[in-house]
Amino acid sequence: MSSADVIVIGLGSMGGAAANALAQRGLSVLGFERFWPSHDQGSAHGGTRIIRQSYFEGVEYVPLLRRAYEGWRQLEDQAEAKLVTITGGIYIGDPEEETFTGALSSAREWNLQHEVLSSDEITERFPAMRPADHAVGLFEENAGFVDPERTTAANIRVATEHGARLHFGEAVLSWTATRGGGVEVVTRHGTYGADRLVVAPGAWSAQLLGEVGAPVTAERQVMYWFQPGYSRGRPVFEDYAVGRQPVFIERTDGNEQVYGFPIADGSGGGIKIGFFHDERPTDPDAVDRTVLPFEIARMQSRALELFPHLTGPLLQAKTCLYPSAPDDHFMIGLHPEHSQVTVATGFGGHGFKFVPVVGDIVADLASRGRTDLPIGLFDLERPALLG
Ligand SMILES: Cc1cc2nc3c(=O)[nH]c(=O)nc-3n(C[C@H](O)[C@H](O)[C@H](O)COP(=O)(O)OP(=O)(O)OC[C@H]3O[C@@H](n4cnc5c(N)ncnc54)[C@H](O)[C@@H]3O)c2cc1C
Repeated sequence: MSSADVIVIGLGSMGGAAANALAQRGLSVLGFERFWPSHDQGSAHGGTRIIRQSYFEGVEYVPLLRRAYEGWRQLEDQAEAKLVTITGGIYIGDPEEETFTGALSSAREWNLQHEVLSSDEITERFPAMRPADHAVGLFEENAGFVDPERTTAANIRVATEHGARLHFGEAVLSWTATRGGGVEVVTRHGTYGADRLVVAPGAWSAQLLGEVGAPVTAERQVMYWFQPGYSRGRPVFEDYAVGRQPVFIERTDGNEQVYGFPIADGSGGGIKIGFFHDERPTDPDAVDRTVLPFEIARMQSRALELFPHLTGPLLQAKTCLYPSAPDDHFMIGLHPEHSQVTVATGFGGHGFKFVPVVGDIVADLASRGRTDLPIGLFDLERPALLG
């Protein structure tokens, strides 16, 4: 039986980062991934993920985001890869709406650089957008996007350079805590032993984590790429491009919250947009990857409310899975029954920007059983996760 200090199950966004952080700390790491590196079957594909710090989801996330930003630079250096593009970010809503007020609370509490803009000021600076007259926006210079496929590839590469043995195309069937305080992992190809285990299976959490993973649902979400149309007889592509258009999140007048990106490399000349919360729990092994005409029409008419000239064709649409906890907060900690097992899941639709700091947290927990980083919000036994 092959063995290691730590086994990592799932080499996607978080498992990849954890394997990298653990290997860099000198531990012998064995990792298993059912698919191929940077695959498109889970939560980490589609070319872009927003990163931002004025976090409307909660002021508690800001210290972790600061640390994550440092981690992004480190990973770029180690992997010699460009992962981060800073474009600025704008969070638009009614003056009393959480997209705006939550971002403002985080910016104020943590003294983050920001500007508050009126609807007219938003259109003046970012001409592709025409928000509702009474809307306001918080603009954050320091926001932008990261490339999820390249990030996962970078973590895998650096982990491997530090000695991690990572097996792709090898699904884990089960794991058990052994009497001696270690773990045993059974895959399609064999049985492996280790002192510690990290379980980061994303949308497959319910399959691998029993009761602990049961609250995590796999939500089918669609990403759409639309081509801009013409405005006043001229093409307006440059208004939607990096350098002019920031990443954005918007919710006004009770409509559905949308998020999106400027035209980026690899986007085929379209802006990417999606509904932030379009909750459709699905079976992660039987995802309907077909995007239906009514879904496209619904997205396009919503997009036109913010981008009146986004009248060009749909370039592509892809499905992705949110591994979501009921309260949309992450789930990170030691397994309640087996302290040699670290769990990292529930990252929903907003986890990617935290990849490097989650790698550090998981490495802390798996190597010394505790972390100094603030993770109280992510408690595996919090009331919001019960029944
Ligand atoms: C459409 C969409 C848009 C998003 N936008 C943003 C954004 O703008 N900003 C942001 O910060 N976040 C965003 N997110 C969220 C973010 O991408 C996710 O929170 C994050 O990728 C989840 O990481 P994970 O490691 O839990 O899952 P994954 O990256 O999917 O990794 C889990 C891995 O475990 C593997 N696995 C599962 N079961 C087994 C098994 N039995 N054996 C072996 N391997 C197994 C899977 O194959 C997978 O590779 C978005 C997500 C989606 C879907």
